[in-house]
Amino acid sequence: MFAANIFMRDYVMTQGHQQLEQTSKRVLARSETLIQTAIDIFSVLPHYRVPVCDKSLQDRFRSMILRHPVLHDVGLIYNGEFMYCSSMQQSASFHPISAKAVGGVDHLSYVAVQDRDSEMRGLLVNWSIDDQVSIGGFILEDAFNLDDRQSDFSSSFELSVMLENGTMLVETTPKSRLLKRAPFATFHENPVLKDDLISHQEKSSRYPISVSASLPFQEAWAASSGAMNVINGFGVLSGALILIFFVRMALKKPDPHNTIEEGIRRREFIPYYQPIIDIQSGRLSGCEVLVRWRKEDGTILSPGHFIDLAEATGLARPMTTSLMEQVAQDLGGAYQGRHHLKVAINLFNRHFDNLKVVSEIEQCFGNSGVRFDQLVFEITERQPLENLDRARAIIMRMQKLGIRVALDDAGTGHGGFTYLQTLGMDIIKIDKLFVDAITGDSSQVPIVDSLSQMARGMNMVVVAEGVETEEQLAYLRRSGINEAQGYLFSPPLPASAYLQLVEALGGNAGKQVKKDAASDVSREDTGAMSAVKSA
Ligand code: C2E
Ligand code: CA
Ligand code: CA
Repeated sequence: MFAANIFMRDYVMTQGHQQLEQTSKRVLARSETLIQTAIDIFSVLPHYRVPVCDKSLQDRFRSMILRHPVLHDVGLIYNGEFMYCSSMQQSASFHPISAKAVGGVDHLSYVAVQDRDSEMRGLLVNWSIDDQVSIGGFILEDAFNLDDRQSDFSSSFELSVMLENGTMLVETTPKSRLLKRAPFATFHENPVLKDDLISHQEKSSRYPISVSASLPFQEAWAASSGAMNVINGFGVLSGALILIFFVRMALKKPDPHNTIEEGIRRREFIPYYQPIIDIQSGRLSGCEVLVRWRKEDGTILSPGHFIDLAEATGLARPMTTSLMEQVAQDLGGAYQGRHHLKVAINLFNRHFDNLKVVSEIEQCFGNSGVRFDQLVFEITERQPLENLDRARAIIMRMQKLGIRVALDDAGTGHGGFTYLQTLGMDIIKIDKLFVDAITGDSSQVPIVDSLSQMARGMNMVVVAEGVETEEQLAYLRRSGINEAQGYLFSPPLPASAYLQLVEALGGNAGKQVKKDAASDVSREDTGAMSAVKSA
């Protein structure tokens, strides 16, 4: 039994460590992309003398964040903390919350800041022009997405992006997560011995940054359900241990049905919004709603951790309804009068079993600021639809209201061409799998070309998912794909951050961003980007 215990300790340590390593790598890659985006922007702006703040400079700043929404704001920075001439057309004052750090690239410095007005925190990347003035890019803390997919670690993991000099840029800790949700709550520290921490650090080879992750051993132990299988391997001898383990599990893990149901009741399932960009014009065209479970302790879980369970326990429908209600509330104000913006919502295939879904949609959005013709509903091709005729009837009902319907994950699953033809889809979403296949400027990805050709022939709009690199964007643009979403532009954002983006880029109510100007922007940017690349 003693041996079994040691073995299990080892096993849990290795498992925990592997998870930390994966997470650190993912966060590091994301952070590098964010910093690279800022650098790309600086390289194409007049950064060797202090530029005159005129309309043309402001327009350039605006066009920059239009192309790169992961940057919340770009502008000139005076004395390291006052932003003027900004893309948001209003000045901002930042309060530094870390020491300034330099390194990696000449002229560049980084500091963690908080906007004095909005109190939003993030990273300010500065390109200094002279002693007092720099160009600054403000990246919101949320863009680092530190809380994404952390469920396996329960509530006690800590994750931080740090500079080589030890300066903390952004971090997530049990305390920060609690305070984010409940600013006035009191946090009770749980003393953890240093020896009891599993930790990992991942260093960047491109910038002077690193990502550190740690997790108390006890948490890894509690989360590691795989450990059970290991104990089973020890047969009769470990019977008692198994019993103890099961009792612990039973005490720790409440009935999943109850937790999800409780979560829905408490509005813990919240919509995140991933911007979708019209890649031909450079305009913001809307967003896709992606559900997140914001647990009581502030942990944010991605759908991979609960969506199958929700479906299996019959709670997928109430979850979707709760999301639709929140979407109507979140976007109603901003979408009213900006009729070109749309919002895409994922449905489950069981939604196409009966017409109830249509009346639910009417109820949620009928009296809201979001019009039916701004709504898109996505159906995935990954799971089969039970009855195609019934689904067709439901889709037609939706389309009668002005709603559009999209085939999600196209090319990966069951329906394929049949779905497109018989169901009468309006939009086709090319799965990330195929976008990933675009690996360089010269790559040929026939499936992307043929999907887009076919869609054009059927008068459908094509959206590419999971776009992460400039090469992919260039290829998709050349193939005539209309729209795209992906980390290159922005991760899924909480409502407040998406709404700010809409305010900045979504055109004024009634008015729209001028199309000519927008395509000028993309042309200018593409040119500029290739200049950066060849430099
Ligand atoms: P999906 O509908 O294909 O959504 C796109 C997924 O790709 C999202 O994952 C999104 O965060 C992720 N993603 C977007 N851009 C990039 C990128 O550039 N790189 C990478 N690596 N990933 C990117 P997420 O939010 O974890 O959602 C996973 C899936 O869960 C969704 O896939 C969808 O099938 C399902 N889902 C999410 N929210 C809902 C919902 O409210 N209802 C239903 N029925 N399903 C949902
Ligand atoms: Ca989707
Ligand atoms: Ca998809």
